Amino acid sequence: MSKNYIKYPIAFNKLTEKLVDLTDVTNENKTDLICLECKENFIAVLNHPTPHFKHKPNSKCKGNVESYIHWVAKETFKQITQIELPGIFKDNLTENQRKKLDDQVNQLIEQNIPKTLHLEFRRSLKKNLSDSGKFLIEKIDIEKEFKTPIGNVRIDIVTTINNQKLFIEPFYTSPIDVVKERKLALTNTPTLSINLLLFIYKFDYNYNLENLKNYLISKNSKSWIFNREKQIEKHIEKYLKYVKEEIEKKQDLINSHLSMLDRMSRLDDEVNLLEERIRPTQDEIREKRNEIRKLKNEMGISYFDY
Ligand SMILES: [Zn+2]
Repeated sequence: MSKNYIKYPIAFNKLTEKLVDLTDVTNENKTDLICLECKENFIAVLNHPTPHFKHKPNSKCKGNVESYIHWVAKETFKQITQIELPGIFKDNLTENQRKKLDDQVNQLIEQNIPKTLHLEFRRSLKKNLSDSGKFLIEKIDIEKEFKTPIGNVRIDIVTTINNQKLFIEPFYTSPIDVVKERKLALTNTPTLSINLLLFIYKFDYNYNLENLKNYLISKNSKSWIFNREKQIEKHIEKYLKYVKEEIEKKQDLINSHLSMLDRMSRLDDEVNLLEERIRPTQDEIREKRNEIRKLKNEMGISYFDY
């Protein structure tokens, strides 16, 4: 299938500079609807099992499904005023950060919890260092360049939330590469990626602006690429405080385990003592059995000793 016949679900109105769903196509606006990639007109095909926009057959558009979902996502972001940010999980930490966290959690567990409860306690701990939450977007800029010591980095979506910058990078087939990740770290700005491929998997090409908006807002479409060191340190402190609180909550269980372990160890000692006491008797029994065996041998009845 020629790419000129890709079925696009959303168009751009060049007059209002807003995205338009197929259901919003009217006689008045239909000549203003374009593909933002090539600026050519989109034709609305409404009398079809799956209505869609398409380029004219002689289109020179260099776009494809990937570049399409990118520009539609960017334009959609201009209309988004609230966003859900995912929590920060252990997987989002750098190796050093994760090691620092694990070491300190292990220390708390070793020092405060009997071994018999380690596994259960570890399993009960939450996996996220911070919770997800909804935030108002104060400002949105699309495609901005930032300087770093190793070259400029182009950010698709720059949001301002609580007076702080947050970068958002949608990706389709190729996730953010190592060089870009390093540049992002050098800007010291928290960065999220959004997986657009998952969205296409879910909807194929039968989506509308509302579907896309909801997906872009949802925490489920996003994962953290970079978080500030200072911010992570704060979250680690908070997590350790949480672990201490969990230990306190389980103090009754811990105490009962400790007293049972204590009782077990005293019983062990008593058993050892009793075994020590009967050892001479056991030795005596063994000696007498040996003597019986010898006598039987001498008498030639060892044959019957089974
Ligand atoms: Zn085009």
